[in-house]
Amino acid sequence: MALKHQAPRGTRDLLPDELARWQWVERQATAVMTRYGYGEIRTPMFEDYELFARTSGESSDVVQKEMYRFKDLKGRDLALRPEGTAPVARAYLEHAMSGRGKIHRLWYMGPMFRYGRPQKGRYREFYQIGAEIIGTQAPAADIEMIALFVDLFEAWGFKDLAVAVNSLGTPESRRAHGEKLREWLAPVRDRLSADSQRRLETNPLRVLDTKDPEEIAILTGEKGGLPPWPRMLDALQGDALAHWKEVLTGLEALGIRHEIDHGLVRGLDYYTLTAFEVHDRSLGPGQSALGGGGRYDGLIESLGGPGTPGVGFSIGLDRVVLVLEQRGFDPGAHRCDVYVVSMESTREAALKLVRELRREFAVDVDLESRAFSAQMKAAGKSGAHWMVLVGEDEWKRGQVALKDLADGTQSTVGLEELHAALRGKEPVKEKATPWW
Ligand code: AMP
Repeated sequence: MALKHQAPRGTRDLLPDELARWQWVERQATAVMTRYGYGEIRTPMFEDYELFARTSGESSDVVQKEMYRFKDLKGRDLALRPEGTAPVARAYLEHAMSGRGKIHRLWYMGPMFRYGRPQKGRYREFYQIGAEIIGTQAPAADIEMIALFVDLFEAWGFKDLAVAVNSLGTPESRRAHGEKLREWLAPVRDRLSADSQRRLETNPLRVLDTKDPEEIAILTGEKGGLPPWPRMLDALQGDALAHWKEVLTGLEALGIRHEIDHGLVRGLDYYTLTAFEVHDRSLGPGQSALGGGGRYDGLIESLGGPGTPGVGFSIGLDRVVLVLEQRGFDPGAHRCDVYVVSMESTREAALKLVRELRREFAVDVDLESRAFSAQMKAAGKSGAHWMVLVGEDEWKRGQVALKDLADGTQSTVGLEELHAALRGKEPVKEKATPWW
């Protein structure tokens, strides 16, 4: 029979076995964020459509083609959030957080929604973890952000990551640079895709963001004989240049491996100055980006707030988990510690004992009143370290039989000693097998 319903295209269910890996990734991330002193923030999964239209830039793919936009029953124009920074900035303003200290270090984790073409590592519902520092333009904030970004990947076992960095300059230098790019691309204009020709008018920097191999060959000068592209860094001046130099010096001082990538432009319009990214080539050319971020000094003002600088990043957790899986990482399923077996006459007593033991241990028990032998078999398969047998005579004496399933030894223990006896041994959890 054909199934009536499937998860919508581009979404998927995460089942318990797979979630073991996700939860491990989330635990590591939460621990790193906490050590860095960031506070978690949770914002709604949908917001006014305008919030994203205004901040992401009308020319961005996200706004033009990928937004889950809908009207609610009162006709409100809403959208499922495609990213996390604009909602955080909105919340920062709505709750007048600037009144509670100048600098705010925040992090978030949760699903994002974009109507893209689904493939491996690219989904319509996907998960991001991100962090923001709002309230300072100090280069030390950019450096801390990149350090946190790299330390998250290290906590997940990624080694020797090189972060690609660039500076997008100020809005003025970007405009001047955009003009230069238009001039530079004029001779090959007709050979660019319709998308790129459109971007050349609206946001020429984003032409460099193309994924089309033909266009990349044109841009790199392999085809069509273009001279090397005008580099954004060459347009940096004054404070923007000083900021960039301080960021580079800071990265060196912290020993963070980085490479300058002149072609690194972020898809969203509110980015200024520092931009950074990491990729993993094993994910394929269209979805190799694991995460990226940068400075967005214009964002909060564009939402009607006072000029407030910010810097942040977001990382795609689906891709992180995918890479861990590809490399054979298994965090080890947490099996139960204790399996409780009972007779027909002690069934109720056993269920009471199970509830009591579950206050401290991971306990499994048969739900279907199966025969004693079937329960014994299930206990053996469960991976539990201990089996507790609730026999009628023993129970009357306030005792149970305790079997160590690892070495087969058995003893009789009083109920008052049971907790201590179970605590005596490490529960059998499969150890995480590192892939690094
Ligand atoms: P962005 O907000 O576009 O800078 O994306 C940040 C990160 O989110 C990317 O580096 C990806 O790892 C991840 N990401 C973005 N879009 C998707 C998607 N459709 N499916 C899965 N991951 C995504």
